Amino acid sequence: MVMTALTTADVRHFEKNLQRMRVELVAELDRLSGSLDDVREARDGTQDDEHDPEGPTLTMEWSRLSGVHHEFAEKLARIDRALERVANDTYGFCTRRGEAIGRDRLEAQPATEYCIACARELEAERRR
Ligand SMILES: [Zn+2]
Repeated sequence: MVMTALTTADVRHFEKNLQRMRVELVAELDRLSGSLDDVREARDGTQDDEHDPEGPTLTMEWSRLSGVHHEFAEKLARIDRALERVANDTYGFCTRRGEAIGRDRLEAQPATEYCIACARELEAERRR
């Protein structure tokens, strides 16, 4: 039984995109972890001095970097889930109601879990 509306070649194509995105994200996360370490070290070095003008700047930089790190880690998790769906032959289907996701949408967002209709509904629910 063919589980997907996409051909095997299509799935391979999206799988390749996902793997490329994954490699880039892992490198980016590595860099961010390095930057976070640097900021942590710099901040720890200034902790004794309450009046150090660098203190608040470093705290802000820390918040910014850890926010980005968190965002990237979530993206990576989404990509891993998409690759799992490739392995399970369920890639290309909406994880909410199971309908096929449009190719254009997968081309733009290979890691997407939802078809456009579900994505819009979820977005509308979030805004409510
Ligand atoms: Zn859907």
